[in-house]
Amino acid sequence: SLRAGIVGLPNVGKSTLFNAIVENGKAQAANFPFCTINPNVGVVAIPDLRLHILSKLSKSQQTVPTSIELVDIAGLVKGASKGEGLGNQFLSNIREVDSILQVVRCFEDDDIVHVNGKVDPKSDIDVINLELIFSDLEQIEKRIDKLKKSKTKDAQVKVKEALMDGKPARSVDLADHEKEAIQHLCLLTMKPVIYVANVTESDLADPDSNPHVKEVAKVASDLQSGIVTISAQVEAELSELPLEERLEYLKSLGVTESGLGNLVAYDDFVAAGSLGAAREKGLLRLEGKDYIVQEGDVMLFRFNV
Ligand code: GDP
Repeated sequence: SLRAGIVGLPNVGKSTLFNAIVENGKAQAANFPFCTINPNVGVVAIPDLRLHILSKLSKSQQTVPTSIELVDIAGLVKGASKGEGLGNQFLSNIREVDSILQVVRCFEDDDIVHVNGKVDPKSDIDVINLELIFSDLEQIEKRIDKLKKSKTKDAQVKVKEALMDGKPARSVDLADHEKEAIQHLCLLTMKPVIYVANVTESDLADPDSNPHVKEVAKVASDLQSGIVTISAQVEAELSELPLEERLEYLKSLGVTESGLGNLVAYDDFVAAGSLGAAREKGLLRLEGKDYIVQEGDVMLFRFNV
């Protein structure tokens, strides 16, 4: 399965979120394999109300949600790339994941110490990015000098320049063959990042009213990354509730879905109620084997026996 690593500075809500997701997985464990590999790694189904509704609509006998291996990567502090603290361990943990979820603290709470003294998402994001950039630079410099002039070297030089400029490798416009040429470097800043803006429960209904969230959204777009707003604490509370009470709780907060759910094209299908109705509304289409699957697509596979 896909591996995602949860990173972030201390006290931003990583463990709270990790545990909430894992608990949520356990609560829905009837139909899918769940396990905790060790305290920091869990294989969980992606909590997806959509799938639940779909399996009802199609009267499925068995429902197997997409699973994802989630790694709680603790221990990043300034200086990690220089091997301070658990730095090296931390970086090698990140090297092994396919994507990065960076939890960013957007909630104010005087009782919970912020490592840098105040809530400042931009600075938190910069701290982590810099460590990843330093690590990538080191990785590139180790190899680049050994290369004679070549396409691989060209790609490496482009990426190195971006890194020196404080930009992640994924922001560099590379042709496919160039991407392939640097794949072996396993650059950390090449991995897709989603910023998880952790807000207080009262902000859930209107996240944009929180200036910290706006700041994260801006940085995310500058860094070619996504943003999801959640309240780790609410997710933790949700995970303790029976499924049928969760919606009620969310409604009381003025929202209709858990931050972990994320509805896109799929809405059309649920609204249409059935495949037949979806066809009538013209929402159904045929795609060939080259089709790139989009988030939220509902698919029917046809094959000849
Ligand atoms: P980590 O160090 O990033 O793993 O952070 P934790 O998940 O251990 O959270 C640190 C502290 O912040 C704990 O006391 C949590 O209960 C608290 N916390 C986490 N999320 C929230 C939130 O959304 N709001 C508030 N007020 N506190 C939170």
